[in-house]
Amino acid sequence: MNLIEHFINGKIVKGSSKKKSKVFNPAAGEQTSEVNLASKADVDLTVQKAKLAFTDWSRKPPTQRARIIFKFKELIEKNSDEIIKLIVSEHGKIYEDAKGSLTRGLEVVEFTCGIPHLLKGEFAENVGTDVDSWSVRQPLGVCAGITPFNFPAMVPMWMFPISIACGNTFILKPSEKDPSCSIKLAQLFKEAGLPDGVFNVVNGDKEAVDALLMNKDVAAISFVGSTPIAKYIYENAAKNEKRVQALGGAKNHCVVMPDCNLDQAINGLMGAAYGSAGERCMAQSVAVAVGKIGSPLVTKLAKKVESLKVGPGLDKNSEMGPLVTKQHLEKVRGYVNLGVQEGAKLVVDGRNIKLKGYEKGFYIGGCLFDNVDKKMRIYKEEIFGPVLSVVRVKDFESAVDLVNEHEFGNGTSIYTRDGDVGRTFANKIKIGMVGINIPIPVPVAYHSFGGWKRSLFGDQHMHGPEGVRFYTKLKTITAKWPSGLRSDPEFVMPTMN
Ligand code: NAD
Repeated sequence: MNLIEHFINGKIVKGSSKKKSKVFNPAAGEQTSEVNLASKADVDLTVQKAKLAFTDWSRKPPTQRARIIFKFKELIEKNSDEIIKLIVSEHGKIYEDAKGSLTRGLEVVEFTCGIPHLLKGEFAENVGTDVDSWSVRQPLGVCAGITPFNFPAMVPMWMFPISIACGNTFILKPSEKDPSCSIKLAQLFKEAGLPDGVFNVVNGDKEAVDALLMNKDVAAISFVGSTPIAKYIYENAAKNEKRVQALGGAKNHCVVMPDCNLDQAINGLMGAAYGSAGERCMAQSVAVAVGKIGSPLVTKLAKKVESLKVGPGLDKNSEMGPLVTKQHLEKVRGYVNLGVQEGAKLVVDGRNIKLKGYEKGFYIGGCLFDNVDKKMRIYKEEIFGPVLSVVRVKDFESAVDLVNEHEFGNGTSIYTRDGDVGRTFANKIKIGMVGINIPIPVPVAYHSFGGWKRSLFGDQHMHGPEGVRFYTKLKTITAKWPSGLRSDPEFVMPTMN
């Protein structure tokens, strides 16, 4: 059995704990590896190594840090096929989708190659007579990231390249369901010239996460995962005086207006609802059909959902792969059963799909519900599977109210040909990321990613300019070099005249 260990201080390390977790190939439904789960002692040791490495790394000029990141970018490109196959083999998503997610992560690495420019402060000359004032952004120290299973490359890459480029050292605690990709990225970063201890990967469960939350030498925690854990991380990191950003779950609505290009909306919805088997925090899991568009939307969508090609991620014909684990498959199936009990109309039922040769794989076909009501649990809760719910509303205002009243606020889209409607929607909607005729409005690396409401605890989004702000603290210096007589003491608030 393949054993996945930790990457600490530049080396693969076993760790002191005997605890292990199983890693599966979801396409075959078979266990492929075991992953070591770190103890508190393993985490504390990693923090010490990262703290030691911080002294030299934070002093390195940003240009020199950027050169290592340029090399890292090259190595990711060179090894992309291997990384993509690691993602597919442990997560299950199809090859091209995994490739797209790696590209989105790589774009963050490309963004951080410009770190010397991004770290430039502001300077104001002569704020008082012969007094100058300027601000700089300095690194925090040891930072940690805790990431979910659904993007084993991209989500960690929202965090560690920026944090490290800013001069911090970093400890990544990836999902124990698909940990191999993070170890590979750490090895490539070392090959690019990153000094030992600057980037570490500890595999683990709650014990490792709690050890990071409690350790006084961890300055900041970035988290991405489900809302209950995000809230726990936010509260406990803050209690232990750490800077924290904790991104949580989602229930994204796609509003389909009667004037839209229906084929465009349906194609957008198909990719956004069923791509990656719905295991995306930006998946569109609710289609809000406005006015008379409801029936044509459901009829056309149903045909497409029925013909979705479900299969293993490495099969070029597959459009949708399996779910990540058997437990998750059961949870998603349970939600489809619940929807039927709650009275929604199951237009396409993917529960009983069987794939020849992959009978043990964690597959479910695309499911489509019509007549979903906002009181139903399948509407209120995040399913995180290939299940799209259609809610019918009478007009645009009701669609906006529906989206705004939901507890989550990650992403949303609207399909319309009316510029006024699109603009009003973008202005009124209480959601962090908005698409107008764009199904998955994930911001590019030089903007920042994050939701509102219970989709994000903390006040900084990830990557882009907000990422640089999160991983640095501001210092403002005011200076005077008196050229004449030394001034007398002043006992009033300085006004710099
Ligand atoms: P999860 O919350 O179960 O796990 C996320 C991380 O937290 C993992 O590393 C896990 O080991 C750790 N963890 C789990 N339980 C813990 C506990 N009790 N105490 C401490 N740590 C714990 O999430 P998941 O199932 O891996 O990922 C899916 C979720 O992530 C979905 O809710 C999805 O919406 C969300 N997600 C959000 C975003 C976003 O940007 N908002 C992006 C991707 C995924």
